[in-house]
Amino acid sequence: MNQRQLFLNSIAQTSTEPMGIEVVKAKGCYIKSAKGKRYLDLISGIAVSSIGHGNQSVVNAIAKQARNYMHTMVYGEHIQAPQVNLAEKLKHHLPDSLDSVYFVNSGSEAIEGALKLAKRYTGKHQFVAQNLSYHGGTTGALSLMSDDFFAAKYRPLLPDVLFIDQNDMKGIDTITEGTSAVVMELIQAEKGVFPCKVEYVQAIRSKCDETNTLLIIDEIQTGMGRTGKWFAFEHYNIVPDILVLAKSFGAGLPLGCFVANKKVMQSFQEDPPLGHITTFGGNPVCCAGAIAGFKFMNKHKLVDRVEEQSKLFKSLLKHEMIKEVRGIGLLLAVDFGNAELNHNVIDRCIERGLHVDWFLYNEESMRICPPFIITNKEIRSACKIILDICKELSAS
Ligand code: PMP
Repeated sequence: MNQRQLFLNSIAQTSTEPMGIEVVKAKGCYIKSAKGKRYLDLISGIAVSSIGHGNQSVVNAIAKQARNYMHTMVYGEHIQAPQVNLAEKLKHHLPDSLDSVYFVNSGSEAIEGALKLAKRYTGKHQFVAQNLSYHGGTTGALSLMSDDFFAAKYRPLLPDVLFIDQNDMKGIDTITEGTSAVVMELIQAEKGVFPCKVEYVQAIRSKCDETNTLLIIDEIQTGMGRTGKWFAFEHYNIVPDILVLAKSFGAGLPLGCFVANKKVMQSFQEDPPLGHITTFGGNPVCCAGAIAGFKFMNKHKLVDRVEEQSKLFKSLLKHEMIKEVRGIGLLLAVDFGNAELNHNVIDRCIERGLHVDWFLYNEESMRICPPFIITNKEIRSACKIILDICKELSAS
């Protein structure tokens, strides 16, 4: 059997149409396949590889840490310099109130931890989430998913989750004294990159304050510079009670975290202790890689360039077939207003070595969220491929 057959045979499949690119190498903005084809990565492994693939300083940091020590003990017992130093680095970019970091392995686990923390701190169990948000694949995170197509077969889920529409000011009344936490993305990525309005987010923040409700902001896709600021909440002039990160936070390794104020986080410590348990969370090798990722971003001032790169994509992607290029920073959706057309463009892009994708809840839009190290020349050539495909399709 060849690798593809072995993959189909032995690796659990979650769809009948896997992309099936056999990766042999990934470096910078490019992924190379076993067939010798080179793909310009316009999606960063879904908002993960912001500093590009195989970053040398990350590789060196991982190797060095692996030689020193890897796993020594479950989370929270041993003092490990990579964890401590990463928490300090992260806090440097955060408001003072977000001063305690819990490291986990993934976005979903970070969401689970945040939900548990809200229950412990508030003593309440009701959550409010936005329709068509995505917070992960575990049972608690799935409970925050309004979309029945994906969620229905897993019910019963958490019993007390209420949904509001993004940007619906009236929906905010759903948040009451009975609410433990509001969980939200500020830019709904899997809906197809729809930003929340500033006044809506600020009104939610105020309502949370009035009702002793925690505000959990999921920045798993938007965090770490993706929107042109280190964190999307900076666009809204609010501070979350719990900030959730993963994806690019690990600089290519599996790492997530949720961050809160110490007085909130302390709820995990006693009565009962061990409020969230993880064996591998904050693995020292992952943390060492993440620190190197942070340093690389700072050294090359990558976040400062994101807005200009975004403008370049937006200015180039103009064609009658493109209804809109939506989004903030390098989290963009090219909206074709038609699922078949979108799939057609995506398939042709991939054929021509441009790695793009669609969104979980929006098959009419194409996802663009490239590594920040993408050059203007690469942006131009990527947009040319997309525009050439549009021209061919409109001529046929
Ligand atoms: N929240 C958001 C906004 C996400 O985009 C994702 C992953 N697509 C998750 C949570 C879940 O993260 P993970 O897949 O690492 O569990």
